[in-house]
Amino acid sequence: MPDTLPRPLRLLRGATLADGRVVDVELDGDRVSAVLPSGSAAPAAADETLELDGFLLITAPAEPHAHFDKALSYDLIRPPQGDLVRAIESWKAYSAEMTAEGIADRARAVALRLLAHGTTAVRCHVDLLSTGDPMRAVDALVRVREELAGLMDLELVALAGWQAPDRHVEEALDRGIDLVGGAPHLAPDPSADLRRLLAIAERRGVGVDLHADESLDGADTLAEYARLVRDWPVTTSAGHCVRLGVLEAAKLDAVIAEIRASDLGIISLPITNLYLQGWERPVATPRGLTALRALLDAGVRVAAGADNIRDPFNPVGRGMRSRRLRCS
Ligand SMILES: [Zn+2]
Repeated sequence: MPDTLPRPLRLLRGATLADGRVVDVELDGDRVSAVLPSGSAAPAAADETLELDGFLLITAPAEPHAHFDKALSYDLIRPPQGDLVRAIESWKAYSAEMTAEGIADRARAVALRLLAHGTTAVRCHVDLLSTGDPMRAVDALVRVREELAGLMDLELVALAGWQAPDRHVEEALDRGIDLVGGAPHLAPDPSADLRRLLAIAERRGVGVDLHADESLDGADTLAEYARLVRDWPVTTSAGHCVRLGVLEAAKLDAVIAEIRASDLGIISLPITNLYLQGWERPVATPRGLTALRALLDAGVRVAAGADNIRDPFNPVGRGMRSRRLRCS
């Protein structure tokens, strides 16, 4: 548990909003009670006032796709640089020796970094481990979520590889995981893995966030995913979706129509995918991005996240959106 809780504030003075207005913001507990022209708010006690002259004031960022169980492991693993397959191999080899305590320590450390830079809501994928107790990462992340309750909203997704049995996914949900996840594009039969993960989610009445089509030339599962969840009342989304970025136009239009019809959210993860994809093409390397322009033009809900932070899937990252922005 962090030893310093946030300082209660009643007045943010002289802040610049995204539209350029300079304002005073009055706070009542955790709510904004008034936004007034700069200099017009009644004074508050000095220790309840924050001077924001020259700073941009925005809502707290939300991170839609993180892996706190993997974060900050790069220096421990010293993995070879390379593509998704090499990253998964080095991660799996290391994960055999991980303890729940060690996972919780790294997860807590990276969560506090994000929190210190303003991020207060995170969706975090959690591996169902294939060696030892498969629930070590689940238990670690549920514990960190409890520790940070009130400071950060941490939503947890069970990242079930195709070899993880259904009972492990069920057990993760029983232990406090919120959503079903997985990576059907990596399975020998992507459609079968997609259907079994969705069957678990449907049986349990929970939402789904899949790692989807994270390659430039592999499986293409998004259209089927979208069709299968067409009328679902729970949250459904897909991360990565790199394959979409290299589909030819007619096929892309057809897949995006299915995504739009199901209101399936698409989460682009540029930092990791620009690192993981394209190693086999050192010249004129294709970009590991989803089809952002086409998705946005079609009215699809699109988010962007940072994904991995200093682990075999992305050796860099600081857990911060940017340095504080000065407007003047
Ligand atoms: Zn991911």
